[in-house]
Amino acid sequence: MDDPRMLRPCYQCLLRDMDPEAYKKDLAVYIEKIPESAKAGPDLYEKRLKTCTECEKLISGTCMSCGCYVELRAAGKYGRCPEKRW
Ligand code: SF4
Repeated sequence: MDDPRMLRPCYQCLLRDMDPEAYKKDLAVYIEKIPESAKAGPDLYEKRLKTCTECEKLISGTCMSCGCYVELRAAGKYGRCPEKRW
């Protein structure tokens, strides 16, 4: 049987929740490589992601406004939401 995650997009889902293995293999590696001095703190990071999960622009971990993976965009200290929501 097909993987149900592949049949339709997951609205308001983060990649880490939707596909933890893909997250660990891809995004987590990039995020770990960001120097600590350039990273958003953990509280700010989670606050940003909470905003994204409540946003209509988020589909399958991707922001439909800018095309980025929000978990990566939110990780940078100076990351910005293209819709100015964070
Ligand atoms: S980055 Fe901004 S516009 Fe994109 S999903 Fe998050 S809150 Fe919505």
